[in-house]
Amino acid sequence: MKTFNCICGNRLYFENSQCLGCGRHSGWCPGCRAIVGLEPAGPDLWRCGNARCGTMLAKCHNYAVRNVCNRCLVVVTGPDGTAAPMAGDALCDYCALTVTIPDLSKPGNHEKWYRLEVAKRRLLYSMDLIGVPYGGPGSACPLPLSFDFLEDEVVTDRTWQSMGEVERVFTGHDNGRITINIREADDVERERLRVDFQEAHRTLIGHLRHEIGHYFWQLLVYNHDEDRCARVFGDHRAVDYGQAMQWYYQNGPMADWRGAYVSAYATMHPWEDFAETFATYLDMISVLDTASNMGLGGPGVAGDFDLMIEHYRHLGLVMNEMNRSMGLTDLVPEVITDAIARKIHYIHELVRSGACVGGVS
Ligand SMILES: [Zn+2]
Ligand SMILES: [Zn+2]
Ligand SMILES: [Zn+2]
Ligand SMILES: [Zn+2]
Repeated sequence: MKTFNCICGNRLYFENSQCLGCGRHSGWCPGCRAIVGLEPAGPDLWRCGNARCGTMLAKCHNYAVRNVCNRCLVVVTGPDGTAAPMAGDALCDYCALTVTIPDLSKPGNHEKWYRLEVAKRRLLYSMDLIGVPYGGPGSACPLPLSFDFLEDEVVTDRTWQSMGEVERVFTGHDNGRITINIREADDVERERLRVDFQEAHRTLIGHLRHEIGHYFWQLLVYNHDEDRCARVFGDHRAVDYGQAMQWYYQNGPMADWRGAYVSAYATMHPWEDFAETFATYLDMISVLDTASNMGLGGPGVAGDFDLMIEHYRHLGLVMNEMNRSMGLTDLVPEVITDAIARKIHYIHELVRSGACVGGVS
């Protein structure tokens, strides 16, 4: 990630919807692809504060009304310069991908939804950065991407109320739809789950990076590159998923998994190995992007793959020690062995070939 500048010169961050220097509203301008200060330009209209851009903008409905977004939409202007009226409920490109939002009448759910959208924006930013294709409902993408943010439901019926019976929502991916159980947006609950499952990290963006890995397996590997993928991650056709999951939860990972897998969970099935490695690839992309934008050097996200891995290993070492010096868990818990680097390399090549397909986002 990079940081941005307001009209007043103050620094703006990716999540900002207001400049703390001058009080101007701020948001994402699709015209110059940056977080910018916004100048009022009429009822519900704003002009991008970047002098070289000046695009006429409207706030996403989820920004203007719901306060969970900070993106704007480009307003179409006629030949005389007047803005064409826009529907007041128009959603930005990212918010349009969320199909189901939490029940906002319940206390705490607005805050959870906000956190989920923040993580989702970071996810989609990285994907736009590397140019990997995806498309929303109604797009030309063969596998439209969408999100459901759901919560466990206590089962009730009209005649009696069953006590404590809960219909669980499973975080997962199914045919382009990513479902996140919104309890993951509760810090206490998520940390408890992290400890229970002995995970190094458990974050909202981590969940999204894992699930989008399953999405890209279906979009780019299934029926396209399954043989090559099987040579890298093991043959997914040879291992029944249900049996593999049962075996994993009974026996756990093999003792020496760290040499070839980014996490214990990745050992369960080739599909999970792919998704966990995909998430690690997006971690690396995000860290390298931030490093190159914040003066920590490196090849950025478009450099030679070997240089990218080398710099990520180096940054991991440095940042882990930084975190340890502050009593925090390691930033990069995986040791990127050569075997793991080969898996990440496959993802890198796949994403690049997917980016070449283009035209679907
Ligand atoms: Zn400002
Ligand atoms: Zn702009
Ligand atoms: Zn939005
Ligand atoms: Zn998975």
